[in-house]
Amino acid sequence: MSSLLNNYARKKISFVRGKGCYLYASNGKKYLDFVQGIAVNSLGHCHDHLVKTINNQSKKLWHVSNAFTILEQERLAKRLTQNSFADYVAFQNSGAEATELAIKVARRFFYYKGNPKKNRILCLNNSFHGRTLATIFASNNKKSIEGFAPKVDGFDHFNFADHKGLEKAITSKTAAIMVETIMGEGGIKVIPDYCLKGLRKLCDKKNILLILDEVQCGIGRTGKFFAYEHAGITPDIVPIAKGIGGGFPIGACLMTKRVAACMGPGSHGSTFGGNPLATSVGNAVLDQVLKKGFLKNVQTIGNYFQEQLKNIQSEFPKVIKEVRGLGLLVGIRVGVDQTLFIKKLLDNKLLTIKAAENVVRLLPPLNVKKENIDQAIVILRKVCKTFK
Ligand SMILES: *Cc1c(COP(=O)(O)O)cnc(C)c1O
Repeated sequence: MSSLLNNYARKKISFVRGKGCYLYASNGKKYLDFVQGIAVNSLGHCHDHLVKTINNQSKKLWHVSNAFTILEQERLAKRLTQNSFADYVAFQNSGAEATELAIKVARRFFYYKGNPKKNRILCLNNSFHGRTLATIFASNNKKSIEGFAPKVDGFDHFNFADHKGLEKAITSKTAAIMVETIMGEGGIKVIPDYCLKGLRKLCDKKNILLILDEVQCGIGRTGKFFAYEHAGITPDIVPIAKGIGGGFPIGACLMTKRVAACMGPGSHGSTFGGNPLATSVGNAVLDQVLKKGFLKNVQTIGNYFQEQLKNIQSEFPKVIKEVRGLGLLVGIRVGVDQTLFIKKLLDNKLLTIKAAENVVRLLPPLNVKKENIDQAIVILRKVCKTFK
């Protein structure tokens, strides 16, 4: 009997070691890992540079309070701003904290501007922004909010692709629109570039802040450092987490100078956020992701992966209904039982993870080799055959 809270339907399998694309289980078997902690291990398991960095830093300094200047944190913030729309960064420990800070900043901005009633955030139905009280009610997905009343107020919602519904939902009280640039848990739903452009225009016209949640799709996952870059727009606030830590828990909220002015000393804090150990690892992740050619390679291999998946789709159109995603943020919508499909992949030593809309997510590390993609394709094709 496990003493763990039963809040996950955990699989029996457990892993004792990982290297790159591979996980080694306590049952002695080796698995191709296309979950990578849900887009967290951007460089795969136990990347040499990350191992060295964390070893070295662990002998120097782990944690000091944010009451002092933390050099590794300064450096990571500088690099994030130099490579994005942002001018300022606040470090957190998780995606939910990062999105919740984005919400706080948006509310505070209009308070600071003398318009405290402009404090509501407009979000997509069935999105995913985390599991804190505020973020579940921002996400507005039935399963996540069930039993957690009273509802946290301050969020309004519209449906994916419902342009008219979006315009209708905007009021004089709307402070920000918050969406995931690509919906992850929601089923790898890419918001088209023209919609993101339209969203930016709408926000400018109505004096509304644009928050793009890039916790899952940011830090190179789509082949650009940030997913919003594909649309050629700039947001006002961007929460990130997952990929920036490469497996170490880090979250951060990025914002423009204009917005940041509302957050003075004492307005927000985090005991652990941005400590020397975490931010040294974050810097080590950026050493790799920002290397010349790295992101280009994510695009190339991501395109190759999706082409191969589309080939399987045309061979088994009843099993694979649709290939979704951008770069290495990839999902396949299956026309068969999703749980069974994932189990069959697992039985063939390929680890994948579900998302909404019957989508199976395929999230290799960003430095995945072509041969590992080919290996996954062989397994996927084999499993599709069993459904014929
Ligand atoms: C995972 C995720 C979060 C929440 O991150 P946690 O670290 O689990 O709190 C928020 N937003 C998006 C888009 C995510 O994918």
